[in-house]
Amino acid sequence: MKSYPIPMVPGPVHVPEEVLKAYMYDYGCSDMEPEFLDLYNRTEAQLQQVFATRNKVVIMTGEGMIVLWGALKSCLKAGDRVLTIGTGLFGFGVGDMAASLGAEVQTVGFGYDETIHDWHRVDEAVAAFHPKMITAVHCETPSGTLNPLEKLGEIKRKYNVPLLYVDTVAGLGGTPVLTDEWGIDLCLGGAQKVISAPAGMSFLAVSDRAWEITQEVGYQGYDALLPFLHAQRDFYFPYTPYWHGMAALNKALELLLNEGLEHSYQRHAEAAQACREGLLEAGLELFPAASAVPSPTVTAVRVPDHITWSELDIKFRQRGLVAGGNYGLLAGKVFRLGHMGTQANLKLVQSALDVIKSVLEN
Ligand SMILES: *Cc1c(COP(=O)(O)O)cnc(C)c1O
Repeated sequence: MKSYPIPMVPGPVHVPEEVLKAYMYDYGCSDMEPEFLDLYNRTEAQLQQVFATRNKVVIMTGEGMIVLWGALKSCLKAGDRVLTIGTGLFGFGVGDMAASLGAEVQTVGFGYDETIHDWHRVDEAVAAFHPKMITAVHCETPSGTLNPLEKLGEIKRKYNVPLLYVDTVAGLGGTPVLTDEWGIDLCLGGAQKVISAPAGMSFLAVSDRAWEITQEVGYQGYDALLPFLHAQRDFYFPYTPYWHGMAALNKALELLLNEGLEHSYQRHAEAAQACREGLLEAGLELFPAASAVPSPTVTAVRVPDHITWSELDIKFRQRGLVAGGNYGLLAGKVFRLGHMGTQANLKLVQSALDVIKSVLEN
């Protein structure tokens, strides 16, 4: 089906009517019209608020992966050292991506059900390896966990590591992301998670140090950051910007900022708590370890022994609920409820829990 009455996939999420309306307009040529440039500038200012940053924010056409790749390729040369902190699929994946570019990658790995906790290990690894870049994932969506990042920023500063790269695609907007305070040089987000716009736009806050490094590296490619450094000043973008996508993103950010970030964080915390409590009541087991930090935007649950994920998925859909499955090591073992953005709603979470309970009882 194209859509379900109880959408709980952890992205792309349900897009509100107002955002769809902003999209549906016969926009002119984004390369020529000052209205587009103005929209880009205003959207950048909105994102600076959400990222809590004074850094320039680059807005690209493409879903999340384009900024994940673009930031790596723009800042790394073959042989550069990258320290990857892995607590899940995306975290370890970023290390693989950097290695594929010829970087020398060392990984500090934790269990998929854990969040970063042994700071001593991280500190020692940075001290011994002298990386050019540290990478980490904020909300590890497949695991339903949220990594604390403040200490990572402290370690980065202590050892003068040039770059801290953070994927907060699934956290941004639903939980505080203090880009400047935490010393994040490349802070990555996407439109189709908490922001609740259609998939197709992504963005990253780029520090001055990161800009210097992009100039040293001089990477050219479709996903390169460098052409965006003066794109607004010169009104010259590297490809025709996606006016529809930008308009939808701008509207979605307006809704978020009108609600207020603190209010949104609270709404996400409440939806997540209700979700976890309801699942436990239904006799299910949450995936994150008791010592890990569960994400306020997505909850990961173990598939119970007596049923398979494909059977559960079919039964959920028959009752109007669509949840997220999983990938890699967690495929078939863990499923997810995405209470992010428009889906961080107590009524919706309750409807999902009702379906889950009825499926498990029958
Ligand atoms: C969704 C997501 C991305 C981006 O993936 P898409 O292919 O854009 O959906 C990146 N990182 C994390 C942690 C995500 O949850």
